[in-house]
Amino acid sequence: MRGLYIGRFQPFHDGHKAVAEYIAEEADELIVGIGSPQISHEPQHPFTAGERILMITRSLADLKIPCYVLPVTDVNRNAIWVSHVKSMVPKFDVVYSSNPQVIRLFEEAGIEVRSPPMYERGRISGTEVRERMTNGGNWEELVPKEAAEVILSIDGIRRLQQISQSDE
Ligand code: ATP
Ligand code: MG
Repeated sequence: MRGLYIGRFQPFHDGHKAVAEYIAEEADELIVGIGSPQISHEPQHPFTAGERILMITRSLADLKIPCYVLPVTDVNRNAIWVSHVKSMVPKFDVVYSSNPQVIRLFEEAGIEVRSPPMYERGRISGTEVRERMTNGGNWEELVPKEAAEVILSIDGIRRLQQISQSDE
């Protein structure tokens, strides 16, 4: 059984990794689809697709099933989004998501969706990680070590802090 896990991963954090490990317990292969891959250098979307591919691939290097990390470009037309996703990645049997809109779209297309348990959602989200990065907090405790290394190697914290400023 091949599973699809789709998200923006801005950035990839410990909650995402916990979901990947959960999927690896029941699937034979995992596809990680990176949404909005064309958007970067924005406060809500600081990292490029290539940077996110590195974070995810390295963080999941020890996953016990094969993992394919692929960009899924936006179509900005939800009614055809599922067909678009299917055209971009290897065939999949189950979609893993807790996002209500993603769940609805795949279910309408007759595709099985499973919602893995949230991992410390009160503490770990992309929004919280970016907030800590912007304000000098301890973001590193919320992301896998390999993802933190990629972020530091590209000067990611100063990038996010700089693009979060205004020109006023
Ligand atoms: P943002 O705050 O920017 O929306 P996010 O943490 O929700 O970031 P996404 O890339 O939007 O990350 O989410 C990808 C998938 O990961 C979604 O299905 C989301 O529900 C799930 N997810 C996010 N945080 C956790 C978590 N702590 N535990 C389990 N799943 C999570
Ligand atoms: Mg989200």
